[in-house]
This record gives sequence, C-alpha cells and structure tokens, in this order.
Amino acid sequence: TEPVCECNSCYSGPDCSHFLTDCIADANGGDPLFLEPFWTQHAASSAVVVAGWHRMSYSYNNNGFISKELERLIRKLHAVVGNAVTQNRYIIFGAGSTQVINAAAYALSPDNSSSPAGIVASVPYYALYQQQEEYFNSAKFKFQGDPYTWRNKTDSGAYTIEFVTAPNNPDGRLNKALLQGPNVKTVYDRAYYWPHFTPITAQADEDLMVFTLSKLTGHAGSRFGWAVVKDETVFNKMTIHMQINSMGVSRDTQLRAFKLLKTALKGEGRELFDFASQTMKARWEKLSSIISLSKRFSLQKINPEYCIFYSKVREFSPAYAWVKCEREEDKDCYAVLQVAKITGRAGNAFGAEDRYVRLSLIRSQDDFDILIQRLNKLVSEENGAK
Ligand code: PMP
Repeated sequence: TEPVCECNSCYSGPDCSHFLTDCIADANGGDPLFLEPFWTQHAASSAVVVAGWHRMSYSYNNNGFISKELERLIRKLHAVVGNAVTQNRYIIFGAGSTQVINAAAYALSPDNSSSPAGIVASVPYYALYQQQEEYFNSAKFKFQGDPYTWRNKTDSGAYTIEFVTAPNNPDGRLNKALLQGPNVKTVYDRAYYWPHFTPITAQADEDLMVFTLSKLTGHAGSRFGWAVVKDETVFNKMTIHMQINSMGVSRDTQLRAFKLLKTALKGEGRELFDFASQTMKARWEKLSSIISLSKRFSLQKINPEYCIFYSKVREFSPAYAWVKCEREEDKDCYAVLQVAKITGRAGNAFGAEDRYVRLSLIRSQDDFDILIQRLNKLVSEENGAK
C-alpha cells in the first residue's frame, strides 16, 4: 500500500519510520520546511476556509488587485519587527518575490535608452537575477556579473541596476550596495531579513526593498512576495507590470497570507520569531561545532551585531552554510560532499568557485538531522585518519 505520509528520501515504509542507511542527505534546495512544526502547533487558528462564492472578482470591490487589509497587516508586521520603514511608502504584491524581482527590473530600466541597463550583483550571488535576465532576454536589461567589473561603465553614465541581497544567499552576510551614481538603481532583496536568520541591525529604508512570505512563515508554495517602494513612478510601473503579467496575485493566496500573518502577529507577535530564531540558532551551533573540528572544511564567519528586535547582541544564524573545501586537491567541493552522501549546491551556481558549496539549513528536521549525521561521519573520518 501507498504510505500515508510523504516520506523524506531517507525513510520508507507505511509510516516513514524505516531509515535507509545508504541514502543521500539532501541539503540542496531552500524549501523552508523548518517552520512546519510552528504551523502544526497552530493548525486550527491558521486554517482558511473559503466559500465558493467568495472573492470571484478580478478586483477588490472595483478597487485594484491588492487587499488593503493585507497591506495594512504587512505594514504592522514591519513595525513589530522593526526591519523596514513603510510609512509614506507604496507596497506592491507579487507571485513570490520571484515575480516582484522581475517587475523591479522592468520598472527600473530606462524607457528609451539605446543600450540595456546593466544588472549586477556581487559574487556570490543568488542565481535568479541572472536566470531571469537570460530567460526573458529583454532589450531593457542585461546581466553583467559582479559590480566591480561593471564599475567603469557606471562611472561613465551607463544605466545600472544593482541587486543587493541582504542577508545574502548563499553566505548570509548583510551586503551593502557597491555602486552609486545618477543612473544607478538599487534593489534590496530582503528575503532573509527576519530575526530567524540575522540580527535586525536597523530599520531598512532603501528605495526598493523586496520581501517574501517564503522565508518568513515558510509558505513558499503560496507564492507571495511584496516590495516596499519609495518612488511613485516606480510603483506605478511595477503595478502595470503585474497587471500585464498576471493581473495581480491570486485572491486566494492573499487570503491565506492574511490568515498566516494574523496568526503570527497574535498577542505580542513574537512567537513565530522566537520559534524560528531558536530553531536556526540550534541548527547553526550544531553545524559549526562539527565543522570546527575539521581542517578540511570551513564555514563563513560573520561577526555578531546588535539586534533591535531582541535588544541584544546576537550571532547570525544563516539560512545556508557556505562551505569551503580547504585542501588544494578538493577543487570540486560538491563532488567531495557527494562522495560523503551529501548533496549541496555547487559554488558556480552563485558565480563563485567550485571550492565552495552551499548547504541548506532551512529544510525539514529530518533533512537537517541526516545532514548532521553525514557531516559527523565525514569529519570524524578526517580526524581518525590523521
Ligand atoms: N530572493 C532570494 C535571495 C531567495 O533566496 C529566494 C528563494 N530562494 C527568492 C528571492 C525567491 O523566493 P520566492 O519567489 O519564493 O519569494
């Protein structure tokens, strides 16, 4: 018979309890299932029931395709966390931040320039910015790699869009923009700027900031993201993009996002953040204590900073481990880990050397436990062989 649950790739059997000792630890994708236990604890209060007749229209009472209630709740969320200024700012929704990032690239490109805007992001960077540019192949923008190599063009007036990922995917650092100038536009991808992953060092106040439900509540499958935008013209262009691209975000998704955020913000609105940051802290400490015993592998090191949400100095607890293979001969770190039955994501996917591999720490508890088991074995073999 079919199992009643969907087994992790390392388990089988009708109740997924049989451990497959030879399986491969999956630390590849950024599926944020580490938050699942929070939502099983709040199953009833976070549930949504939608009657058949509800919200059938393209619009909210002939007033656009953004739920004003949800917009208000998002402003409240940012005020509670203190991670972004939203007063006197516009907010736009997208199908995940994936669609919002695309809308931003279109909105920030020049209307009638003979040459496309250069899109840049510092290495190691999240691959999507480049993939979207290459796939959509627009006359408006072109991916140009690292800001350092494009800097001279910017200085001579070329239109530039810099994507700044803060905290960064893959290495968790709070990146800052590298380029400035009259024709430079900056998009801050703030997908991970939540107490789960980083000290909240200041209320972010950039011109265009992108957020997502995916890494906040863990509901990557609902496909809900938003941007906080200073400039009205940019906001209007992004709105037109969303209209032409998809007529806005599914009303069902907006309702689900509303219910989830409402549940998360109940009471003092800290419970989700406490759960998420404690989980990530425990995972990071476990992982770093193993890697600290190794000379063959090393991890990114980020100095602690003062967190305005927790009112104390805090360590980072990043969503991903950015592992470096230190031995001269281990040029392909992905292959080294594959031999040890660990699947990560190779450095070249982030414009970096293959001496680096990203390991996801935000997956389910089973995935994380198996990863730790495999890493423990790998590092103890290294030390035993000395
Ligand atoms: N930005 C960053 C930095 C990400 O890591 C991700 C997802 N891994 C996204 C954007 C896109 O996420 P989504 O479309 O689910 O909002």
